[in-house]
Amino acid sequence: MKDLVIIGSGPAGLSAAVYAKRAGLDALVIEKDPVSGGQVLITYEVDNYLGLPGINGFDMGTKFREHADKLGAEFAEGVVTGIDTVSEGAADRAPVYKVVTDQGEYETKTIILASGASHNKLGVKGEEEFTGRGVSYCATCDGAFFRNKVAVVNGGGDVAVEDAIFLARGCSKVYLVHRRDELRAAKILQDELMSLPNVEIIWDSVIEEVKGDNKVTGVVVKNVKTNDVKVVETDALFVAIGIHPLTDPFAGLVDTDESGYVVAGEDCSSSKPGIFVAGDSRKKRLRQIVTAVADGANAVTSVQDFLVGKK
Ligand SMILES: Cc1cc2nc3c(=O)[nH]c(=O)nc-3n(C[C@H](O)[C@H](O)[C@H](O)COP(=O)(O)OP(=O)(O)OC[C@H]3O[C@@H](n4cnc5c(N)ncnc54)[C@H](O)[C@@H]3O)c2cc1C
Repeated sequence: MKDLVIIGSGPAGLSAAVYAKRAGLDALVIEKDPVSGGQVLITYEVDNYLGLPGINGFDMGTKFREHADKLGAEFAEGVVTGIDTVSEGAADRAPVYKVVTDQGEYETKTIILASGASHNKLGVKGEEEFTGRGVSYCATCDGAFFRNKVAVVNGGGDVAVEDAIFLARGCSKVYLVHRRDELRAAKILQDELMSLPNVEIIWDSVIEEVKGDNKVTGVVVKNVKTNDVKVVETDALFVAIGIHPLTDPFAGLVDTDESGYVVAGEDCSSSKPGIFVAGDSRKKRLRQIVTAVADGANAVTSVQDFLVGKK
């Protein structure tokens, strides 16, 4: 029986692992991917984490994991598919939960959900067919394949604009297709984007189809104001239209909002006693590495408070 099972080893889960180890808790981290780090791993450069300006995302994820390993954190591989309540807790007794994975089951008194989030898909014709053959969700991972070629980025937030800026360094031309007439991205990113001579923004437009033979050759773009449709010839489409939480295995167990984010305040306590949530899967204003790491620390503090006086 564990004191704590942490689901996910992104920044939130790894921060929780460090705090749990230092608190002397018997904790286990379960991760579905072979490498820890979560979304950070697919980030080319992180420039807003205090003390580590310009760090490569993969290096950052590796550093986070090494820190947890150095303190002796325990890890297990597996996809968590659900959580069963074995027994409800009481004032003097901790609940018992069973975390079910495709590799085995683990009994625990408390759980931190740190399963993070994943990219949204466009859901248009050709997207799935050409994924990996020109359609990508990670410019920093796949951008190098399109050096001196044309790329389209779809989206208008920070990630889309960062992707366009990054791609413009190597591609001959980058189109940014955005459904509105203004971007949501931070002003500093917009200014940088606008200064690039090989970037063109296609405003008020959506992508309706991805075209290709054995790889992407173009995207069908529709102007939502005029209904004009045109084909933009491109070698790649980078989709950057937001994320959704990976909380399906916990549906019905804890309260979530309409998008599936687990409802919890700064103390990270979910609606279910003994279950806490940290990082991008929590309903909150800002989903970043620094807020995920902070959640991991807060969640473990709440776990400690919860376990005081319970067997
Ligand atoms: C392209 C990109 C660029 C970004 N750039 C920045 C940036 O510059 N600065 C910044 O601060 N933030 C950036 N972010 C956001 C930042 O990466 C996230 O806010 C942060 O990683 C969230 O951490 P997390 O631990 O909550 O979730 P995640 O990083 O999503 O990690 C969750 C982990 O849980 C695992 N998991 C999920 N479901 C299960 C399951 N059922 N069973 C077992 N394991 C599971 C996943 O495999 C993953 O390892 C960026 C994100 C992306 C995608």
